Parts: sequence; C-alpha cells; structure tokens
Amino acid sequence: MKSPIQFIFVAMVVFLVCGPVHSQEIKPIPIKKFYKDRVTRNLQFLCKEAECLDNVIINDRGLYIYPTSQRVDKPEFILYWREMSHFNELLEEKSNEEVIEILKRKGQRYFHGIKSTHVDPAKYPVSDFGGLKVAIDPGHVASNMGEAILERRYMRVEGKHYNQKRDIEFFEANLAYTTGLRLKEMLEDEGADVMMTHEYGKSAMGINFYEWLETDYKKDIVDGYKNEWYNREKFNHLMSGDAPDFVMFYDVFRNKDFVARARAINKFQPHLTVVIHFNASEGGQRYGDKYLPPVSENYSMVFVPGSFLGFEVDGPDEIDQRFELLRLLVSYDLEESNVFASNVIRELDQQLKVDALPADNDFEFAEKYSIKSDLADGVYHRNFYLTRAVKGPIAYTEALYQDNYDEIPLLGKKDYTIEGIKTSSRVKDVAQVYFTAIEKWLNYNKEYTKKLDALYDDKYGDEEIYEAELKGMSEND
Ligand SMILES: [Zn+2]
Repeated sequence: MKSPIQFIFVAMVVFLVCGPVHSQEIKPIPIKKFYKDRVTRNLQFLCKEAECLDNVIINDRGLYIYPTSQRVDKPEFILYWREMSHFNELLEEKSNEEVIEILKRKGQRYFHGIKSTHVDPAKYPVSDFGGLKVAIDPGHVASNMGEAILERRYMRVEGKHYNQKRDIEFFEANLAYTTGLRLKEMLEDEGADVMMTHEYGKSAMGINFYEWLETDYKKDIVDGYKNEWYNREKFNHLMSGDAPDFVMFYDVFRNKDFVARARAINKFQPHLTVVIHFNASEGGQRYGDKYLPPVSENYSMVFVPGSFLGFEVDGPDEIDQRFELLRLLVSYDLEESNVFASNVIRELDQQLKVDALPADNDFEFAEKYSIKSDLADGVYHRNFYLTRAVKGPIAYTEALYQDNYDEIPLLGKKDYTIEGIKTSSRVKDVAQVYFTAIEKWLNYNKEYTKKLDALYDDKYGDEEIYEAELKGMSEND
C-alpha cells in the first residue's frame, strides 16, 4: 500500500511527464516544421511576381535562394532548417555584408562549430516597455511652409469651404515630427529607449536641402548613379546644373536621406521601428494659388516589408535585395511587422474613427506593387527602401487623409506646442494610437513567448539531443 504522500508524488510525476490528461496533448514542434511553416507562409507575402518566386526553392532540407531563376543558376544562399536559429543570431550580431560572406563561405555545407546549439527558434525578445528600444522616423524634412512646398508635401485650403476668410495651411513634415515627439515622450515615460532619425527641419545627414547644395554634392550624384537611383540620361541632367531644385531634392537628396535614416536605425538596433507619415487622397489636383479641394473620404494605410518584384531580386547586382528577402523569409521580422501594423490600423479605426483603406480599391499601388496583409485591411506588404533596409519589425504608417473635409480644420489648428514646435493637437490623438498599438504588440510578444516556452522546453531545450540530431547528418548532406 502506498501512503497518501507517495500517491500524490506518483500522481505528480505522472502529471509532469504526461501533462494534464484532460487537455490536448502538447507535442514539441520539430525545428524543421517550425521554420518550414514560417518560410512557406512568409514567401506568399514576399514575392509579388512569379519572376521573384522562381528565385526561391523550399524543400525538405532547407531554403535555397538563386541569383536569377532556379532553372538557370546555382543557389547563392543555402540554409538548412536546423541552421535557421543560428542564422537569426548572426543577423543580430553582424552586418549584412559579414553574414553574406559567411553564407558564401559555407556554401552547401552545414555551419561549422555552431556555438549556441540551443534551439530557441523565436523567443520574441521584448514584452515590456522597460528595455524596449523604438526607432521613430518622422517622414519628410521641412520645418516651414517654403521647404514644404519644395518637397511638395503641404496643404493649402481655401477658407470659403469653411465659411471663413482665412485660408487653412499646414504641412506633413510638421505633423509627422510632432507626432513622433509626442510618441517619444509617452514611451520614455514608460521606460522605453527611443531614438528619432533626424532633427526637426534636417535630413538624417544633419543638414537640410539648401545646406546640402553648399556641399560637394556632385559626388552624391555619382554615388546615386552607381546605386541605380537614375539612368545615364538623368545622371547627365543632374550633373549639368540645369536640374531644378525639385528634381535635385527628389532624385538625389531624398534618396541619400533614406539611406542615412536606415543606417541610423540599424545602428541603434531597435526592437521596433515606426515610420510616421500622413496620408492624402490620390490624385488631388491643385488649382489657383496651389489650393487643394477637401474630399469626403478618409482612409489610413500601413506598409510592411515584402512584395518584391522580379527585377528587384534578379541578377548579380541585386544580391543585397536577395539577402533582405532571405532575412524576411527566416526571421520573425515580417510576422512582427504585420502584427504591429495591424494593431495600428485597428486603433486608427477605433480611436480616431478613420477606416482602413478598403480591400476592394482601384489604387494602382495596391494592384501593381503590393500584397495585402492577411491580418488586416489597410495593411500592405510593399518593397520600399525603408521597409526593406531596416532590420527588425517595421511599420510605415500613413494615418488619415490630410485633405479630408473634417480633418483639415483639426490639422490646421496651432493649438499645441511640443519642444518649441507649434502644431495641431490632433497629433496627440495619432501618437496615442501608435502608443496603444505598441502596448498590444508587447502583449502579443508576451503571449507568443509563453506558448513557445511550453512547446520547446521539453525536447528542444536540450543541447545534447540537438547535437545528436546534427551528428545524424553528413557534412555535405
Ligand atoms: Zn509622407
């Protein structure tokens, strides 16, 4: 006969080994299944065209990326399923160039001497404001109406629409920057570490357009040509000195600014990046003294990485984009971007009563360059420079229509000052949306990590088992 204490002990052992009998049995997911599921799922949102899909093979052994079509070339990057956790660690520790070199040396062999054999495929690293690192990238550069007119991001609306004499004026760079400052303030109050990509009125190079024109900018035109920002004809035009300010701004200065923004963000190594823009209706025609007519629609959109076109990943020059494609296939960046962006779109709807752009729209960008998210309407995968070049989860937000009839008087108010910058108090509402979305994203991470702990601690927390499994494969398998 067992004593009651012995009985309880036996019952506990049975419970710990077998788990609660009444609940569904939890089986550890093999590492291969975990990554194969992720990569297969992500691929649907990463390639817009068949000419991109044919650079990728997913099979039982792993993932193969080809420099052009798989039928023509040898694979450029090979990752086997069991190597993927290690690859994700490399992404955190090393630059893209270094990881590309490592993959090239490895070729079709397995990684040698993987230091960390713990199989921890996707612990989402942050679930609290304390320790959270957020990069905020307020869109555009202007700090006054003149500069906003140069970058063609301003609103000027006739007062007559509102039975008043005074016209209404404001500009996007001001709204975006002050939204960013307000969000920064809220996050820092909760203990987060926040960086802004630029100062007010400056590019991420630390200078504005006119200051840049005083520098030796011709070398930047040459750099831009090498980076395929423009063709030979445009290059000659830019070098001739005859190109108008607007062309110099858009084709050279702005691209250089994007590169500097991405570089600053990646250097900071944030857990999350929020790019802040304000939306506007497509095709609004300016008239008279550059006025825009108010519109009745009001929609938001958010962009996340993905939707590569064929030509973007084809050919020897596009190795950087193929590497980003590989990163987005294997890391959790795509899923995390999608979750955060969906939170943003939902909060814009709930808090501001601004709808997501409906799925059945006839916008060219949606048809030609984007793949709609499966988590929410209004969220689109799109291969912008920033959504591609920034490592880690990122949402490129386009909140509300600045030319919406009801938004115009709200956005035109100068009833709020932050860090000495006069703006509209409407930006506080928008910042609150991003703050709530971040809070919900942290909760998602917390729940996800709990789920993974339950799944992986059994079998795959054990280094010896993993080593044994690795030994079961030959070097040149
Ligand atoms: Zn913008």
